[in-house]
Amino acid sequence: MHSILEFEAAQRGILEPRDPIVVSFPGPVADRRKILQAPTLVGGSTDIPDMAAELERESRRPIYLINDLAAAAWYYGANTQANRFQVVTVSSGIGSKVFDRCRNDRVLDDPVYGGEIGHIVVDDSPSAPVCDCGGKGHLGGIASGRGIEHLVRRKATEDYLGFSASFITSALGGRFDDLTNEHHVVKAALAGDPWTLAIIRDCTRPLARILLSTILAFGLDRVFVIGGFAQALGSTYLELLRALVVEMSRYALIADRLPKLIEMGAARQEVCLEGCAAFLRRANEKLRSD
Ligand SMILES: [Zn+2]
Repeated sequence: MHSILEFEAAQRGILEPRDPIVVSFPGPVADRRKILQAPTLVGGSTDIPDMAAELERESRRPIYLINDLAAAAWYYGANTQANRFQVVTVSSGIGSKVFDRCRNDRVLDDPVYGGEIGHIVVDDSPSAPVCDCGGKGHLGGIASGRGIEHLVRRKATEDYLGFSASFITSALGGRFDDLTNEHHVVKAALAGDPWTLAIIRDCTRPLARILLSTILAFGLDRVFVIGGFAQALGSTYLELLRALVVEMSRYALIADRLPKLIEMGAARQEVCLEGCAAFLRRANEKLRSD
């Protein structure tokens, strides 16, 4: 919060006094200002600061808080021709939002649970991994970068022979107690290591199933995949996800279109930032037309 206010103070000379601040936030947000949960930041805690009120008090500007995936969806709404699409992030958790150009150009984030697929239970087994929110077997605790890192560590002890023969051990010198995505998992997957790719595939299968459901239920014409883990793997991740989605679909009407429908999103830091600007432009247009 401090750095937002510092930045606002530094830009004051080029802003009108009532120009708003738009913040994209990694959790569900109601009414453009109330943070409901922040599992990737504070776990299951409900002690979440009233960020909008504090920023408003300190800056004396109107504040809009929007979900980070909603911001990304606003970005793709402004920068692509896709008609009805989903943005899905594969990073510390799993999140998504759907944008519908046919419905007055908007992100479907009202009600607030729109797109919140990360906490669906996809593994009922007693040994299912624990999600950041404290729940067990959630999609976000399995298919996210964090979930994949967790399973690689677990498999390294459970399948010691396989792990010993993997690229992680043989080429990267990884040990079961010091494995990270950054230093081992991503490098091994990019090198085509079958042991590592099999784990990523297992973790990604439930995500593919849920994406396919969303594609069919909404009639989506595109899915943009973003997020640090997916983008670090790039086309390796895309091909793996596409193959899983195709493997699960038995519906001839969509067969030809399905692989092309899933794309990697732009690998740029500013997607959420530019999405905030796209959201504000649209909000201003609506205000002028109302
Ligand atoms: Zn969860």
